[in-house]
Amino acid sequence: MTAALYLLRAGVKTAMIEKLAPGGQVLMTSEIENYPGFPKGLQGWELADKFANHLEDYDLERINDEVRSIEVGSPHHTIVVGEENVQAKTIILATGSRYRKLGVPGEERLLGRGVSYCALCDGNFFRDRDVAVVGGGNSALEEALYLARLVNKVYLIHRRDDFRGLVCYQNKCSTHEKIEIIRSTVVEEIQGEADVETLALKNVATGDTSQLKVDGAFIFVGFEPIMDFVPDDIHKEKNGIVTDVEMGTNVPGIFAAGDIRAKQCRQVASAVGDGATAATAAFSYLEQLDV
Ligand code: NAP
Repeated sequence: MTAALYLLRAGVKTAMIEKLAPGGQVLMTSEIENYPGFPKGLQGWELADKFANHLEDYDLERINDEVRSIEVGSPHHTIVVGEENVQAKTIILATGSRYRKLGVPGEERLLGRGVSYCALCDGNFFRDRDVAVVGGGNSALEEALYLARLVNKVYLIHRRDDFRGLVCYQNKCSTHEKIEIIRSTVVEEIQGEADVETLALKNVATGDTSQLKVDGAFIFVGFEPIMDFVPDDIHKEKNGIVTDVEMGTNVPGIFAAGDIRAKQCRQVASAVGDGATAATAAFSYLEQLDV
């Protein structure tokens, strides 16, 4: 949305292709406390809405469908969207990332029956019940805190002793009366007949195994970039598309911004910065083409 805003303001004819609703992972985030300008924090959907509203007064073409593939060309690239082909001289890839699965038995089978990857979407189903949160990054810590407002008890299970997430979230979790932290422990299986009933746990330090009775298992073990539709011409690594500092890929005219990029910092603030940078570089590229 930032890239679209900058392109439109530069006078570039712009289409924004979106499969679902604008906002991506932000829509699944309960509370955003670190986006500058909002010191009291705000809900993910509120921030996404503000971004979307910012585009209202511009002449933006909106295409609501899924991009299936991209064919690299010159001077136009072709984007296959649903059954249609869209021609564009420049493309900014900003499809973000999707949650990573834990990959243990029972996870697929009990999805939607106690296994969840979205506390905001499913937390309400577990009011006054006991749930586990698996992971040790910012997502796990933040979402454990969100769930603790709703449920009876949160077991926060992390495979190491030290957490990856920010110290401010660690402190809140470790002092929260409803959160019990289980360290150096992995989930080996999610068990239950119709719904999640127990987790089979293993302490990686001692080798001890145990069973934990829970009604829900919320998995937050990281994200992976959404780039299945990105052609082989574009240089990518396991954790995303490789870009230069101007967000350019190795293919002239194709840029990438946000969580789809191979990078370390995955924040709304950095995604916004990437979007502005990519749009500025795309505008310069278009100007050169027209010379
Ligand atoms: P993350 O930072 O990659 O952390 C993933 C966590 O899951 C790690 O603690 C990792 O353990 C654990 N893990 C990975 N695979 C596992 C497995 N198979 N079994 C058990 N545990 C496993 O992912 P994230 O928390 O989703 O965050 C993604 C990015 O978004 C990060 O850059 C994060 O900073 C950012 N983010 C920021 C905020 C914020 O600033 N408020 C909020 C949410 C996300 P190890 O630690 O042992 O590797």
